[in-house]
Amino acid sequence: MKKILVTRSSMPTLEEYCKEIEELFETHWITNMGIKHNTFQTKLKEYLGVENIELLTNGHMALEMTLQALHLPVGGEVITTPFTFASTTHAIVRNNLVPVFCDIREDNYTIDADKIESLITDKTCAILPVHVYGNICDVDAIKRLALKYGLKVIYDAAHAFGVTINGKGIGEFGDASCFSFHATKAFNTIEGGAVTYHNKDLDFGTEICRLKNFGIRDSEMVDGVGVNAKMNEFCAAMGLCNLRHVEEEIAKRKGVYERYLSNLSGVQGIKILKPVDGVSMNYAYFPVVFNKEKFGEDRDSIFNRLEKNDIGTRKYFYPLTSDFECYKKIYSSATTPIAAKISRSVLALPMYADLEFNDIDFICKIILNE
Ligand SMILES: *Cc1c(COP(=O)(O)O)cnc(C)c1O
Repeated sequence: MKKILVTRSSMPTLEEYCKEIEELFETHWITNMGIKHNTFQTKLKEYLGVENIELLTNGHMALEMTLQALHLPVGGEVITTPFTFASTTHAIVRNNLVPVFCDIREDNYTIDADKIESLITDKTCAILPVHVYGNICDVDAIKRLALKYGLKVIYDAAHAFGVTINGKGIGEFGDASCFSFHATKAFNTIEGGAVTYHNKDLDFGTEICRLKNFGIRDSEMVDGVGVNAKMNEFCAAMGLCNLRHVEEEIAKRKGVYERYLSNLSGVQGIKILKPVDGVSMNYAYFPVVFNKEKFGEDRDSIFNRLEKNDIGTRKYFYPLTSDFECYKKIYSSATTPIAAKISRSVLALPMYADLEFNDIDFICKIILNE
């Protein structure tokens, strides 16, 4: 029996990629802001509809460096969500900041803006929400709170590539938004990431550029404790190729989403997220939340049955980051009951552009135990 994986990276044809990298074999300029990097940066800025963008080696470094470049006070508290990938929480802790976990909304699994205010203290310096699965956070409510209390807002937009709200790019919200172009994301550059920000924050952009290159200001002046987080030319070339086909790929993912819907919608105890007015979808993931009482079975037993049938799915996100070995002594998921519940009952089903319809039908048959 063939194995169905949970994801499969979008790639151009070998010919297209070879053509794209051909000139690198002439110039031998293969990293450090070369022609592919710069071209890709310009095209991406246009595609995402943002004022400014800086390319980075991955999404995690985008988060880590954004927090550093904002010069938040050591020990400052950052209100965030535990229902996310390891990266979000680690980026806060690695900047000597303190994560404060806020619960999520039951309807779209993003941070519950109504619960943020009660967590604000005189140490709070920022809010770091996540556009989970490409569902957008309550950006208006978060903005109101940020203005009221003078907080920075950094969005983890790793799942939200290309998403727009009433035509406005998702990367335009907050002080900065961090994207990931990892192989498993809806759009990839093999490994890669970016941060988007506004024109009024050009100093922030300068800071990111400096920090991503060891804090080097010029050849004789190093005045920042930087890292190496530059996107190389081969990754940028992959980005240029994949960007040419991204609309097509998202359209195919939409087909996959609709096929799942035709199999699973209306089934008691299965919750699937529906489109929201004015918000474009990128179909990056297909998360399903199982209600054990109504469905008659819990998430783990469905996960195991799928696995026995060579179908890979992901308990995404489980455990909550606040329950990780490295954090659980400090935090308790009892403070975020909805996140804890969703984390125990969610399963991300296989989702990629080339997933075949008969495979989707098979996956659904196994889920429904037919
Ligand atoms: C993938 C991901 C990241 C990290 O991005 P990388 O490019 O893998 O470093 C951060 N946050 C979330 C929510 C992610 O899914």
